[in-house]
Amino acid sequence: MTLLDIKGLKVYYYLPDAVVRAVDKVDLSISDGEILGIVGESGSGKSTLGLSIVKLVPPPGRIVEGEILFERVNLVKLPEKEMSKIRGKKISMVFQDPLTSLDPLMRIGDQLVETIVTHQNLSEEESRKMAKKYLEMVGIPGDRLRDYPHQFSGGMRQRAMIAMAIATSPRLVIADEPTTALDVIVQAQIMKLFSKLREELGISFIIITHDISIVMEVADKIGVMYGGHLVEYGSVEELYEEPLHPYTKELLRAVPNIEVKDVELRYIPGDPPDLSNPPPGCRFHPRCPHAMDICKEEIPDKRFRNEHMVRCHLYG
Ligand code: ATP
Ligand code: SF4
Ligand code: MG
Repeated sequence: MTLLDIKGLKVYYYLPDAVVRAVDKVDLSISDGEILGIVGESGSGKSTLGLSIVKLVPPPGRIVEGEILFERVNLVKLPEKEMSKIRGKKISMVFQDPLTSLDPLMRIGDQLVETIVTHQNLSEEESRKMAKKYLEMVGIPGDRLRDYPHQFSGGMRQRAMIAMAIATSPRLVIADEPTTALDVIVQAQIMKLFSKLREELGISFIIITHDISIVMEVADKIGVMYGGHLVEYGSVEELYEEPLHPYTKELLRAVPNIEVKDVELRYIPGDPPDLSNPPPGCRFHPRCPHAMDICKEEIPDKRFRNEHMVRCHLYG
């Protein structure tokens, strides 16, 4: 069943002298127990998209248009009082730096117990048992409950952070660059952990990353963002077998062991667009080796091959 359905979402930052179109007309959905990877280079609007789902876009940013249907309720219209019952409970977040979310002065176990008591309505004693279970579930021995965050390695802190995120018994976890600070082996372990938690608890995950290779292994679907637009969206198999958007091909080219058919496209010069003054038409056109006249004028519509979506004038 569809858990989250985003329609026509626009999120802009209103600076004194400019409007930054960070997320522009994005549509996407995620079903129960699904893992969605959101990929794209720095400044493409990934974090803004993630934050908008929990309605934490910082000012001067705001949701300008669109719907975010979570369990069929439009979060965009939901008053803050109702939203605060969903945020950090039904939808929880994992960030890049666990130290921003873990209290350095509190034992890991106490932090977990506090979260469980608050969100799951269990007694202190039951919560302590659950805390141990969650810690073990994320691969940390239960006897480390008494440790403080600084006694953990970077990878363990990120695991503890994930234990905190699942301790609210959420339906959806949004993880924004959850492994960027970690070495590749730990990155892969954390990705496997997401996959395991999806199997065991049926939680859906949105994993935001600039590195498509780390989500290819675990995600069911991938959404590719470029300059605030979702330019391609499809199953991992579809993207792997036949990436459609020239930008997606470029991202995949950087992944070892993936052969991309289009040989002309080796290196894309240029910078990501300035979202306060994005290029007209397709925002990728200044860097695209396939750009045609129409690309400079018209924003490409969504085109579908079954469920596989692309926004590019090459497919018309
Ligand atoms: P990164 O990979 O670097 O984390 P991102 O894909 O998460 O990038 P966002 O952080 O969502 O991208 O930024 C999208 C655009 O919105 C960028 O142009 C950025 O400069 C702008 N932006 C983000 N946060 C703010 C803010 N608080 N005020 C003004 N502009 C912002
Ligand atoms: Fe390239 Fe045009 Fe497709 Fe944009 S719409 S990616 S410029 S071919
Ligand atoms: Mg970001």
